[in-house]
Amino acid sequence: DAAHELRTPVSIILSHCEYSLAELEMSPEVRKEFLCIQDKALQMSQLVSHLLNIARAESTGFHPSFEDVDLEILAESAADELTGKAAQKEIRIEIHNYLKPPVIEGNTELLFRLFINLIDNGIQYGRTGGYIKIFLEQRGKNACIRVSDDGIGIPEENLDKIWNRFYRSDKSRSDSVGFGLGLFIVKYIVRLHKGTIAVESEVGRGTSFILTLPITPPAS
Ligand code: ADP
Repeated sequence: DAAHELRTPVSIILSHCEYSLAELEMSPEVRKEFLCIQDKALQMSQLVSHLLNIARAESTGFHPSFEDVDLEILAESAADELTGKAAQKEIRIEIHNYLKPPVIEGNTELLFRLFINLIDNGIQYGRTGGYIKIFLEQRGKNACIRVSDDGIGIPEENLDKIWNRFYRSDKSRSDSVGFGLGLFIVKYIVRLHKGTIAVESEVGRGTSFILTLPITPPAS
């Protein structure tokens, strides 16, 4: 409810910022203040939409509709959406598809969010000039998705905590982006698709998230 109530005021703050920055005359100092307000309001708006997604997914009786989803197209569109952010760190995103056809039964919107969150983390915790590689394969009756980066990695003692809501490593806390909800949401989406998720990581070398999703989910 709180997230829902926050949606309107936050979008009003954002539209006032946008209008002021585009139309009003202001000194460089004032512009800097407005840009700071806009940046923080954007973060709030992302948090609100994360919270709404979680609330919706957790509401009892939430059954997302399933349709045929082309994972290759979905991975490509998520990568496209984040090319700007990846380019800022000169990170290249590669998609390698060995799943023929690359189609599973699932919810398009949720699986798109899953790719966005994993790729976004790959960029956030990736190294400048590095890569994010997405592999799609078949493993028995499952589609296997592997999202790998060559970034900072995750210390072994933190590996089981990263799935918790609002968990962020101490290092990640120091920069202001992110709320520690991305992987919690990814795990939730995997669970809704009756799949599994695991992580392999080595500090300084990189991280891989390995997901399996049933091509045709068992009836519940
Ligand atoms: P956020 O990115 O907002 O902090 P997430 O739930 O997406 O939240 O991730 C939780 C934590 O897991 C991050 O703070 C970071 O420490 C770690 N993490 C997630 N993905 C990666 C990755 N690809 N490489 C290194 N660390 C990661």
